[in-house]
Amino acid sequence: MLNQSKDKLAPIPMAERGETLEIKLSMAKMERLSELVIDAAGEVAAKLEFGIDSEGIKFISGSATAELTVECQRCMQPMNVSVEVEFKLGMVVDEDLAQELSEDYEPLVVSEETISLSALIEDELILALPIVSMHEDTNCSPYVSEYLADDSDKESESEEDRVFPFAQLGEMLKKKQ
Ligand SMILES: [Zn+2]
Repeated sequence: MLNQSKDKLAPIPMAERGETLEIKLSMAKMERLSELVIDAAGEVAAKLEFGIDSEGIKFISGSATAELTVECQRCMQPMNVSVEVEFKLGMVVDEDLAQELSEDYEPLVVSEETISLSALIEDELILALPIVSMHEDTNCSPYVSEYLADDSDKESESEEDRVFPFAQLGEMLKKKQ
């Protein structure tokens, strides 16, 4: 297992040698991800396999898991989400070649000898984060959401409108059928 000082990897020789790597990365180093979560103290576990496919494409096939604490968009309280990502990156030297890459791969532009593993895994995690995170109803605090609800038309609003904004969506979908 590598430590943080070896975050920089040379992916091309690693693909040529068919290396595999299991690593734990500190989330505190992932600044962009840290901005999206409440608690960035944890670790991200990643597994990577480097290789060359039958077309000669050098790839990184990997997965990463992280336990993140984000803010519930309904009650604004912390909630835990487990994020698990799998990715298959095809190495290309520039953006033009990225266009030609098979759809099996997400392009990874390797313009320098080394890449930052933290940055790579961070990108994947950010893409995998739910756009809107909300507690399951039973865990969500109705008092807090009531307090924070838009109060511009509070007087006329019914209980359902205020607390369950998606209840009507379900009704609408039913009517469509
Ligand atoms: Zn909530």
